[in-house]
Amino acid sequence: MLEAPMRQMRLAAGWLLVEDGRIVEVHESDCPHTPDLGGDRHLVFPGFVDTHLHLPQFDCIGADGLKLLPWLEQVIYPAEAQWEDADFAGAATERAIMQLLARGTTSFAAYTTVHHDATRAAIRCAAEMNVRAIIGQTLMDQQAPPELIRPAQQLLDETESLLSAGAVGRVTPAVTPRFAVSCSETLLRGCGALTRAYDAPVQTHLAETQKECQAVYDLHDKMDYTELYLQAELLTPRTIFGHGIWLDAAARMLIAEAGSTIAHCPTANAFLNSGTMDRHAHHMAHVKTCLGSDLGAGTERGMVRVAQSMIQAAKSIGRLPPTPAEAWHQITIGNADALGFEQVGRLQAGAEADLLLIEPDVNWRQAVNPLACLLYAWDDRWLDRVILRGQVR
Ligand SMILES: [Zn+2]
Repeated sequence: MLEAPMRQMRLAAGWLLVEDGRIVEVHESDCPHTPDLGGDRHLVFPGFVDTHLHLPQFDCIGADGLKLLPWLEQVIYPAEAQWEDADFAGAATERAIMQLLARGTTSFAAYTTVHHDATRAAIRCAAEMNVRAIIGQTLMDQQAPPELIRPAQQLLDETESLLSAGAVGRVTPAVTPRFAVSCSETLLRGCGALTRAYDAPVQTHLAETQKECQAVYDLHDKMDYTELYLQAELLTPRTIFGHGIWLDAAARMLIAEAGSTIAHCPTANAFLNSGTMDRHAHHMAHVKTCLGSDLGAGTERGMVRVAQSMIQAAKSIGRLPPTPAEAWHQITIGNADALGFEQVGRLQAGAEADLLLIEPDVNWRQAVNPLACLLYAWDDRWLDRVILRGQVR
């Protein structure tokens, strides 16, 4: 599978040469030798990229019947409190990444919890497992259970210590205020200052539900949600806003001007009944979007099915849906670029060899639209090999 213009992907016969963890040659021709891996029945894809997930929430998948704020209080905060134990956090991270790799996700952006030692354990674990990731300590200094809030200055100091230490393996730390409900203005402004000082990636949530927007308005002096982040200098080209459903034209304009990106999380939005993000309207307003599972509000760990859900979400609100080729582009190079991962998500010479070897059991070659056939018939059992930096797992 290769990148093509127009934010699409295309299929081509060919072969790759990988050396020292990188793709060094890409050929669209028959392989002159017997390949070390793969054959006529196989496809090579770039590893999938998930732009929004929560490492501590994998065991919470499927807690149904609640809207966002009560779901956080009743399901998520008790689960996140377990990360007080850094060993537990490390083990949970390993389990989560195993689940992602088993579904073809080799790169991601993730939240941890408010716990600093647990965050360090998660970063170490991800680095040892050799995935490319952005991971951030989830900052909260208000409107959460006492065991999950910390003084703003402590959180800023802890985040700065992660940022100043820099990347660990292929894992980059991020500034990660959870959302404006659980962050004071002091904390948000401190996050903005750190972001600027370290040119760091930012991840936070924005306008997932109407009740959350109202809470932000009430807690922050009747300030508009997006405007609040703008004033805290958190609207940057490296900012990924989770959800961005309930945004008006003025908010879209601010986000577009800043070059920030909204992570569309259709499975999570459907599960928590939060609303449907209008991807088309965002694009018309020049707002960039990417795609995320938002585990564990999201119920789907595999990005191909999240991409199916993205298409379904657009159909459900009467919008022209993304094509299957656009969907494949989104979960590979599109999401990689959104996270600033120029090294992965593509089959190009020089890219890191994070690859999937697929053996479909459908006759996709005979399909009217092979990319559509592969997208909708997708089965994780097709994953014959997952390759990280040239190493078969
Ligand atoms: Zn989230």
